[in-house]
Amino acid sequence: MNKNSTYGVIGVCGANGNLIARILKQRGYKVIGTDLSFKKDCRFAKSLEGYDIEVYYGQTPEAFFKKSDYIIPPLSLPEDAEILKNCEKPILTVNEIIELIRPEKPVFGITGTNGKTTSTTLLKKIAYDNGIKPSEHDLEGMQGNAEYIPILQSRLNGDVGILEVGTFGVPGTVGRIVNHTSMEGGLITNITPDHLNDLGSFMDYANVKGEFIRELGEGTLIVNGQDPTIMGLLRELDFKGEVITFGVDEMPESIGMKECVCGKEIAVKEIISGCGYYFCQCGITTPQVDYIATNVDLANRTFDLHTPDEKITVKMGVDGLHNVYNLTGVIIAAHKFLGLPYDKILPSIASFTGVSGRMEEVAKVKGKDIFVDYAHNPAGVETVLKEFKKLFGDFTTVITVSSESGYRGDVDIFNSVLKFSKFIVPASVASHKIAIEKLTDNPKLNDRIFLNHLGDFKKTGTLGASEEEVRDGLKKALNLDCEMVIAIGEAATHYKSLVFEL
Ligand SMILES: [Zn+2]
Repeated sequence: MNKNSTYGVIGVCGANGNLIARILKQRGYKVIGTDLSFKKDCRFAKSLEGYDIEVYYGQTPEAFFKKSDYIIPPLSLPEDAEILKNCEKPILTVNEIIELIRPEKPVFGITGTNGKTTSTTLLKKIAYDNGIKPSEHDLEGMQGNAEYIPILQSRLNGDVGILEVGTFGVPGTVGRIVNHTSMEGGLITNITPDHLNDLGSFMDYANVKGEFIRELGEGTLIVNGQDPTIMGLLRELDFKGEVITFGVDEMPESIGMKECVCGKEIAVKEIISGCGYYFCQCGITTPQVDYIATNVDLANRTFDLHTPDEKITVKMGVDGLHNVYNLTGVIIAAHKFLGLPYDKILPSIASFTGVSGRMEEVAKVKGKDIFVDYAHNPAGVETVLKEFKKLFGDFTTVITVSSESGYRGDVDIFNSVLKFSKFIVPASVASHKIAIEKLTDNPKLNDRIFLNHLGDFKKTGTLGASEEEVRDGLKKALNLDCEMVIAIGEAATHYKSLVFEL
């Protein structure tokens, strides 16, 4: 690439085009852009402010091609697209840019079924609190874990890359993120059944997560040692890098079955869903972990963390045993990866009050405390409700989830809700359907399950319920004789401001 050349980026209102334009500009290249959207409709126009990038909105004039020495089309544009037909300038693909421009900073990834966003947000907070700037994608409203976003994000300005690596249905995507960001370390929170329908068996799903381990090669991996799936994958994939394990010293509360990497079903004495004490004849068993959290006092939000060298006392700004796991993983990551001493980490942990939408208290209405939680898969729902029960006792659950694992996932979610809640308001179409089945099987549930008025809402994207359904569900919950209300699912967190109407 050449600093005297002008790079013409097509599709700057899309996430990838927008990121590429900014990456090239930050690296000192001349950049112009174009997009079929008009500026008022351009989703990420704001991200380009202050970059001095000339953009042709609404159409692509001849001048764009004339001024450009190289054309960078979006991934979605086919090679024989009309817009490229008369283009005589050489084409650079997104993948070629990724090869030519490297992150040039240490990159750390966070993956797992639950706790990724909380852990990523907290690790970034610790970095900022200590004057270390992580690269940010600055795409408003984007969660930012679709395949190319973390890859490109790591190439934007910053001291480090701290990337959330999502759960992807498509094999190869997780591995490519690790590979294309030259990731040198990672944290795996847990691996439990989630998007089962996308991939067939649980082990197929686990193997997609396993790409993270495989591609890290000789990097450093911080893992929840109490998760048999993670420990099994490390063995199966013969991981050659450094492994740092952590866990929580608590009495198990239940026994759950989980498929071992060898194919056998094993019993896990669970501390949180899918993690705890386990043993399989193939040799997979709970290890003596390197970092162990003890003396967990959830009421006072403290625990002790035994590191290999010392004991530290951790004050938490968030609730729940699952967060003891999340915080422990992040403390190790901040120490090892950001190179910070514990006394620089702990204040940030204490002042971290969580990510919005995660056990978030929205308001108090008619004397009732209303919480929302984004949990939308069976393990996530179980973990959150179990913690909620321990913290607050009786509560009403409003279900706004339509699980991505289909019917089976919805049944699992409903069963968890039944297990932990006093009252249940099924506000999504999927939960409503299961509620009717449950009531048919067992009419006695009539005094616990309260059907919501439902429209003909079709699940769109990840939202499992409509605004109307969330509103009706919350109203219904407020009329029940129970002081705590938790609305679970992405629809509930999306429409949480509805609470203020009530
Ligand atoms: Zn086994």
